[in-house]
Amino acid sequence: MNKQNAVSVEPTKAYKHCPKCAGVFEHKGGNWLKCTDCGYSYFVNAAPAVGVFIIDDKKRVLLAKRKIEPKKGTWQTPGGYMQPGETFEETIQREAEEELGVKIAVGKYVGSMPETYDYGGVALPFICAFFTAAITSGEIKSADDVAEACYFSLDEIEEVDMTYPALPALIKRAVGLQA
Ligand SMILES: [Zn+2]
Repeated sequence: MNKQNAVSVEPTKAYKHCPKCAGVFEHKGGNWLKCTDCGYSYFVNAAPAVGVFIIDDKKRVLLAKRKIEPKKGTWQTPGGYMQPGETFEETIQREAEEELGVKIAVGKYVGSMPETYDYGGVALPFICAFFTAAITSGEIKSADDVAEACYFSLDEIEEVDMTYPALPALIKRAVGLQA
């Protein structure tokens, strides 16, 4: 956990007002907020996200360095939040084009990672599903919220400052699936 997470608060504490009528929320327990005026229930659910392990023929995995806060300068997989109506595959193909400028073919499901993303002092819960993928066209050029993108061997990832602590184990599983 970095210092941003230390000061960020749960959405159930940060969200004070009903999105429907602006009435005052009461925290009913767990992820449930209920409006004291209109009775509208709001549930703080995990937002779905997708990450991609692009593995080259030397079994090295492509990681992207974060250009922006939170966790600026740490390394993570290319990926991002799902937009309404997208499939997992569509999200990672869109993110690969936006962040790296390449088209990819989606491979195998690797695993998932429940985490929080610090946004404006609120620890937003998300669940990230990871897939392997191969580049089908284009040259890697980092853009958007990515400072640089590099391939790392399994030995090298031990030394990398990862954005999330669960990533090294997921990377090892992804490289194993690709073998
Ligand atoms: Zn309300």
